[in-house]
Parts: sequence; structure tokens; C-alpha cells
Amino acid sequence: MKTFAFRHATSVDDAISAAAAGAKYLAGGTNLIDLMKGGVEQPSALVDLRRLDLTAITATDSGGVFIEAGVTNSALANHRLIRTQYPLVSQAILSGATTQLRNMATTGGNLLQRTRCPYFMQSVFTECNKRNPGSGCAARDGFHREHAIFGASNHCVAIHPSDMAVALSVVDAVVHVQNSGGRRSIPIAEFFALPGDTPEIDNTLQPHDLILGIELPPSSFSEHCWYLKVRDRHSYAFALVSVAVGLHIECGKITAAALAMGGVAATPWRLHEAEASLIGKEPTAAAFHTAAQLAMAGAQPLAQNAFKVDLGRHSVVKALEQATNFS
Ligand code: SF4
Repeated sequence: MKTFAFRHATSVDDAISAAAAGAKYLAGGTNLIDLMKGGVEQPSALVDLRRLDLTAITATDSGGVFIEAGVTNSALANHRLIRTQYPLVSQAILSGATTQLRNMATTGGNLLQRTRCPYFMQSVFTECNKRNPGSGCAARDGFHREHAIFGASNHCVAIHPSDMAVALSVVDAVVHVQNSGGRRSIPIAEFFALPGDTPEIDNTLQPHDLILGIELPPSSFSEHCWYLKVRDRHSYAFALVSVAVGLHIECGKITAAALAMGGVAATPWRLHEAEASLIGKEPTAAAFHTAAQLAMAGAQPLAQNAFKVDLGRHSVVKALEQATNFS
């Protein structure tokens, strides 16, 4: 590992100043340290955020919840407000990684984790536009069974690995950030970036932006929601396909629906046409199958991952069934 300078931030402003001087933010370190060990990330300095104590989860005046960025994944998933008002978020987090990793990984860091494309993760591979812009994409003609079927480009076909982000997409979370110019908020739908011509850019953060926290607006999905994760083994594996579902049902009819997929794109992939098809319908098998067909319309699989289209369709149906206790 390359030698680097290290210090603790004493305040948010101090952390941002350190980043402006070239340091990289360190929170739980569960992804960054791995990348540094492998030579993928080679910062000259780290500024540790953990003594800022950004670890509060509080109810907001509007009826939502604000989660500070340093809250660990374990603390978030098990918090009373999240378990009761946003069980989808809890489910998604608990489906990811291991207890040990969730005890270290933070809410802000979860959003910033990098793709687990093997060509990106191992610097022995020279062709990776995300790691080394202009070098090519080894995955396109190589191993891409786990890669994107939506939103990819000729330059990159990687997926985003977060489970939590898929659930946050369904509840329309808002990311609060700060840099030397002040504070601002970014809707989760605008936070992640598709690869396009610049696959090295994962998100819409500006230089030295520090994530302060994530706001969850009031949600009507607590009664009917589900996070379904399909993977090669039952634990400690990333999603081949995941589906987050939130529904509101009144008098037997679906009055609000939000669906998103993980494991299929470089961003959580919202299924707007499928959502629209469910509104006003009773939660029936026919409605679920129509939504699933619409969900996968437009998929552009590669040679090795066409199975994700069928898997996605079945997963959407299953997640809707689980969310509605349909049998
Ligand atoms: Fe790199 Fe993206 Fe291609 Fe993977 S898919 S090798 S991350 S450019």
C-alpha cells in the first residue's frame, strides 16, 4: 500500500478543508481500505470523519427521518424509527455484507462504495475505463455475467453494489451535502450517474462534497413493502438482481407504488412504467405479471447475463407478492 498521511477531522469545516487540500474522506473504511490495499485507490492523505460523531437518527418535523452520515449500517437497520416506518430500508441493509461489515460501514459510505467489477477491483487488469479512463473495458469482451442490463454504455457495463441505495430510491430519499460553498441537497434520483462517456464518475457530488446525512420523507409504504435479493449464495454476496417494492393499498386497490431494481445498472433502477401500471389495480397475479413485463422492457443484456431478464421478471412478481402477502 502506498504511504499516506492520516489525521482526524475536528469539525465538518476542517474535514472539507482537508479534502480541498487533497485528502480523501475516511469513514468506516470497508471499501476504501480494500481498494487502497489493492492499489486501486492511492490517496496521499486520509481525513478520518469518525470523531465528528455524525451518528444521530432523528424524526423530522415533516414526519420523516434524518440519518446522519456516520450512522453505521447496523445501527440504521435496527433503529426503531427505521424498523417501524421504513422496514424496506432495514430489510435491504440486513441483506448486505456481514454483521461485522455492517458494524463498521456507514450510511454515507454505503452510497459511495465502488463497483465490484473484478476488472476494476484488481489493478493487474489494465483495461478499465472506470479506474483508468480511456483504457478500455475488459468486461465487455470478458467476464460480464454480473454486469448491467440497463443504462450501460460502450465505455462501462458495471453495476452499483449497494442494497441500501435501492431501498432509498423507493422512498425518495434526499442526500444532504456540504462543501466550502455551503450546504445543498440532492434527491437520490439525481445522486448516482450512469457511465455514458465518463464511467470514472459514479455520482453527481462536486469536489470535496461531504455527505452530512440522508433525509427520508414521510412514507406510506411501511405496511406493504419488500426487498428481494437474488444472489449466488445466501449470504455475503452481491445481488444478481434485487427488487425493492413499496405499495400503498386502500379499499383493496393500489393507490401508490414505487419499485426499483438493484444489480442491473450503475444506479438503482426505478421502474416507473411498472409503477404506473399498478395504480388503481387490485393486487392480483395479472397486475403483477403486467408490471413485471413492463419492468424488464428495454433491457439490453450482454452475452453472459441474458438470464437477468427472466430473473428480473420473476423477481418483480415475487417481491410484489411478498409485499402484499399474496398467495
Ligand atoms: Fe471497468 Fe466498467 Fe468495464 Fe468493469 S465494466 S472493466 S468497471 S469500465
